[in-house]
Amino acid sequence: MKIVALAGGVGGAKLAHGLAQILPPEELTVIVNTGDDFEHLGLYICPDLDTVCYTLAGLANPETGWGRVGESWNTIANVEKLGGPAWFRLGDQDIATHLERTRRLKEGQPLSQVIRDFCRAWDVRHTVLPMCDSPVRTMVDTDEGELAFQEYFVHRRCEPIVKGFRFDGAEAAEPAPGVREALESADAIVFCPSNPWVSIDPILRVVKKINKPVVAVSPIIGGKTVKGPAAKMYTELGIEPSALAVAMHYRTILTGFVLDNADLKYEEEIKALQVKTLVTDTLMNQLTDRARLATDVLHFIGSY
Ligand code: GDP
Repeated sequence: MKIVALAGGVGGAKLAHGLAQILPPEELTVIVNTGDDFEHLGLYICPDLDTVCYTLAGLANPETGWGRVGESWNTIANVEKLGGPAWFRLGDQDIATHLERTRRLKEGQPLSQVIRDFCRAWDVRHTVLPMCDSPVRTMVDTDEGELAFQEYFVHRRCEPIVKGFRFDGAEAAEPAPGVREALESADAIVFCPSNPWVSIDPILRVVKKINKPVVAVSPIIGGKTVKGPAAKMYTELGIEPSALAVAMHYRTILTGFVLDNADLKYEEEIKALQVKTLVTDTLMNQLTDRARLATDVLHFIGSY
């Protein structure tokens, strides 16, 4: 069964990792959000792509879900000592990724090629694609004005009140080489439990059209996010955060929805949207949970 998974960072990477443990490399393509990408300290940083690649490579820090395992922080500590910005934490091993990526991009290599080469070097055998090669920048409209995504997310710790989002460059962006082909040859598309507003929406804005069954896994469990600001965003935009709100968010393209046992009460309302449902344990705290949830999702798709 050929699957394309759409993913942001931490939540997306966990399910992508589960799927990668079950599906052979030729049956899984992960398309990753690049709206969070930014330039910092002269480096080109792709937080979601790196999180997905490190996770699939077994190099991710299991405590944070982002960054590298066994990381050291000497470079950023010395940057700080010199009066430079240290609010975006970059580990020493991680900096090597950004240095080499920046060098290649400056030479004119497209991001998709850089990621393909990095995946080969890290022995990631499933296909990981950026949503596009041209820059797309997620901008967050807040009560303090419009903020670049990392300014809002990391520097301001998601404190400003969200009023909306803009994906600068998304309308004009061409999907990266391989994205359209993967979507066309897929049996189904899985939306990983990533932030709908700032991880999945930018990808949808770039790919524009999906003509395949779409199964989304809710990133909201019991009205809360496992990590990150998705629930806070729903509230600030005047929508009660819930699995139902996520299903409503995707309703125009959704054929199936995976919600947590904790949210069983929403199942009938979601079914009424003409969406098939799977109620299961969607929390991936342990490594083994990833393959378990991926197996559930694949069986669900297979039962269509
Ligand atoms: P980010 O770009 O690093 O914020 O990562 P994503 O957008 O991919 O993931 C953030 C979302 O993942 C949050 O809304 C979390 O609630 C969700 N998430 C994280 N871990 C889990 C999990 O184990 N299960 C589920 N269902 N959602 C999760």
